Amino acid sequence: METTIGSDISKASQLLASDEIVAVPTETVYGLAGSVFSQKAVAEIFKVKNRPEFDPLIVHTFNTDEIRSKIALENDPRIDLIEDRFWPGPITIVVKKRPEISEIITAGLETVAIRIPDHPVLLDLLKAFKDPLAAPSANPFGYISPTTAEHVKDQLDGLIPYILEGGDCLVGIESTIIDLSSPTVRILRKGKILQEEIEDCLKESVEMVEYETRSSPGSFGKHYSPGVPCRAFERSQYPGIKKMGLNTGVIAFNQIFDDIPEENQLLLSPSGDLGEAAHNLYAHLREFDKENFDRILIEKVPNKGLGIAINDRIDRASTD
Ligand code: AMP
Ligand code: MG
Repeated sequence: METTIGSDISKASQLLASDEIVAVPTETVYGLAGSVFSQKAVAEIFKVKNRPEFDPLIVHTFNTDEIRSKIALENDPRIDLIEDRFWPGPITIVVKKRPEISEIITAGLETVAIRIPDHPVLLDLLKAFKDPLAAPSANPFGYISPTTAEHVKDQLDGLIPYILEGGDCLVGIESTIIDLSSPTVRILRKGKILQEEIEDCLKESVEMVEYETRSSPGSFGKHYSPGVPCRAFERSQYPGIKKMGLNTGVIAFNQIFDDIPEENQLLLSPSGDLGEAAHNLYAHLREFDKENFDRILIEKVPNKGLGIAINDRIDRASTD
């Protein structure tokens, strides 16, 4: 199968209507999309990603009417609060599912994860296609999420027919996931939208769940790793290039290290901007993953605001 990259929304929509899968841009990372109502497409997503069947997909749509009429079982008023404040945007809600949403998508759970993404190309596609799209990140299971169309092609070339071009993903790390189906709202995955913002929006307290395997399977352990051994570190604990060996790549936050050749270093954000750091994180990891280094060291960022989610992804990229 030939994989092409293009900007043709009607072509993408036609492929989806023929039970095919298409890689799509979002503001977080690229997704691998199939119609929620196509068993064939949904099965293909799991196959192409080599994703275990216990890891559920996120359903993407363009408005809350669609959520109520096609995806969510109950008319939870908090869906409107989330929409007013954050959607389209990088937050995913987990609610009870309608019976029409297949258990393959939800990995056998009675709940479904839903998001309205903030990307004009994907929103146009969702409107043209008219049905919701199930879409996990467009990477092989366990590898770093793609943030450009080229990243997707690098790994899924020949396995999917079409990659819809949407430029660099602006946010660059996956959405915050909150569980609205439990008695207390819980954050299942950290992201750009923060605990305090969600509490302020919902006017209720929100609990942070530390990697609970069963309720959010994709959010445990080493999940976003590159192929080369990778270790997270704090600047104050920097081991030094002599100890690490010359063939080490270092991804630093905003300042280079003096004892390492500059070509062995990348900065997440020279100006110390956390948004820019999130945007660059996966692209930098991919770049160094291709360099034949013996190992990659990656510096933690300040642990506040978006930095909390960035550090979470750095820890999970870390294989040591
Ligand atoms: P991905 O978009 O590939 O990062 O994967 C989507 C992630 O959403 C999964 O790995 C789960 O962690 C989470 N998720 C999807 N559906 C549910 C659900 N019903 N309950 C809890 N977490 C979910
Ligand atoms: Mg993923």
